Amino acid sequence: MNHSGTLYVVATPIGNLQDITLRALETLKTVDVVAAEDTRHTAQLLGHFGIQTKLTALHEHNERNAGQKLVELLLAGKSIALVSDAGTPAISDPGAILVDLARQAGIRVVPTPGANAAIAALSASGIAAPHFLFYGFLPAKAAQRRHALEKLRQLPHTLVFYEAPHRVLESVADLATVLGDRKLTLARELTKTFESIHTCPLTQAPAWLEADTNRQRGEFVLLVEGAPAIEEQAADPETQRILSTLLHDLPLKQAVKLAAEISGAKKNALYELALTLKPEQP
Ligand code: SAM
Repeated sequence: MNHSGTLYVVATPIGNLQDITLRALETLKTVDVVAAEDTRHTAQLLGHFGIQTKLTALHEHNERNAGQKLVELLLAGKSIALVSDAGTPAISDPGAILVDLARQAGIRVVPTPGANAAIAALSASGIAAPHFLFYGFLPAKAAQRRHALEKLRQLPHTLVFYEAPHRVLESVADLATVLGDRKLTLARELTKTFESIHTCPLTQAPAWLEADTNRQRGEFVLLVEGAPAIEEQAADPETQRILSTLLHDLPLKQAVKLAAEISGAKKNALYELALTLKPEQP
């Protein structure tokens, strides 16, 4: 018989403490240890709810070593709650390594769901598209960030990013440069006093952020509309103009390749369009 304890993965609020769930409170109260990203931060949360459970640190710099020790505790029958500073552990936060170690050791892992900034932002955005891609944080350095965005440029899904206040302006400018003019929703300070949700075209977003520095403060989720469908890409008048001009002087394949690079439209969409624009070559 397995006498191991259970590892609970417990979501905590992303701002408003009322968003803690009844189940999270019960779990945090009854486990033997709470493994926290920042013990001082979580001590405040526990203090607010009158919970006195012992805390231990588990953060990105010690996760494997601390995780192995926690697995030993679990194997010895202790139960542990894993929390991060805010929201759901292991979502752009530490936690996945401990969960993996525990599962490999045959320990029962129980999610205790609750707040998550990406889902909160999506739920209040009014974006009706059924599919989204959760990306989390883009690279901090501009060249790497633009490279990462290039890879996302053609995806038809809503793109969901996390961003820090000191980088939001440059990131939004890069989103506009690489992805072109799509709809952007900036969800800031969700569940907190200065919560704001603003939607505008990507190309207007840098100016909107600069118009009032308060708009750059706090925590952000950025939601970007997915790439237009292939037929829509090829139907764009500017794309058609580029392709027609290139077809004038270049062989079809080369014109399509260049037009795709210039416009960001998909090659197969442009190929179909090129066939309608230029009579078939011998
Ligand atoms: N694990 C968390 C979750 O489940 O959402 C995310 C942690 S990640 C380290 C922190 C980032 O999440 C912030 O930089 C911001 O992009 C986003 N975030 C967290 N709280 C937020 C809030 N109240 N409003 C908007 N974005 C928030």
